[in-house]
Amino acid sequence: MKIVTNLLEWQAIRQTFANKSVGLVHTMGNLHQGHLQLCERSKHENDVTVACIFINPTQFNTENDFKYYPRTLEQDRALLNAMQIDILIHPAVEMIYPDNYHIQISETSLSLELEGAYRPGHFNGMLTVVLKLLLLVRPTRAYYGEKDYQQLLLIKKMAAALFLLTEIIGCPTVRDHDQLALSSRNTRLSPTERALAAYFPKLLHSTLSLDEITQQLTDLGFKIDYITEKWQRRLGAVWINQVRLIDNIII
Ligand code: AMP
Repeated sequence: MKIVTNLLEWQAIRQTFANKSVGLVHTMGNLHQGHLQLCERSKHENDVTVACIFINPTQFNTENDFKYYPRTLEQDRALLNAMQIDILIHPAVEMIYPDNYHIQISETSLSLELEGAYRPGHFNGMLTVVLKLLLLVRPTRAYYGEKDYQQLLLIKKMAAALFLLTEIIGCPTVRDHDQLALSSRNTRLSPTERALAAYFPKLLHSTLSLDEITQQLTDLGFKIDYITEKWQRRLGAVWINQVRLIDNIII
């Protein structure tokens, strides 16, 4: 696997793929099976797979969330290498933001609901970096997890609005043995918190009403941002102490 940190070098490499299909999987690293599933799908459907690891500062709402976001580059690199991913792009923040953050994408509707209401600016930061990476990589297909369902909808909406040529592909949520959706933030849960976290997917999957789920989670010690139904999905965002978890299931 070739590792590229310099975007000029990347652009020269991209020229050599002119007649090939290119799949892009971009993540913030600390890779788990949820991310690797996206890579597998890309490998299956494209001639070349490009993985990108970039922790995007503009999509974090608190300094601590950014500061404590797990950074495990060596481990991630070994996982991608073992899967025979072709290229890993791992750019420095200044390379992605030569404009010093002055140019940004602003979505004014869907990005303000649910996650957007609790994480002001998050989706504009996310859409800005996604657009930059889509323009840099010019993939035939780009792969995103349904775990971040509102994010997936927004990326699809942006791609349509800006006439991007990339096909945006959503992939199902990968879960742990107890149904907790895999997430890099799970590693920040203590063993007791991790055991408690399993009630979140369990109750989301139950036949209880939204109010009953909210009440039961609250009684268990979760702090609830929202438990709701939309887009034929049941979606939730909850806190266990300092760690925020999101999930959604098809109704
Ligand atoms: P992240 O590194 O958390 O920003 O995630 C990078 C990509 O992986 C996004 O498209 C996520 O939706 C996707 N992803 C993260 N966790 C999972 C999971 N458990 N199942 C499926 N996709 C996931």
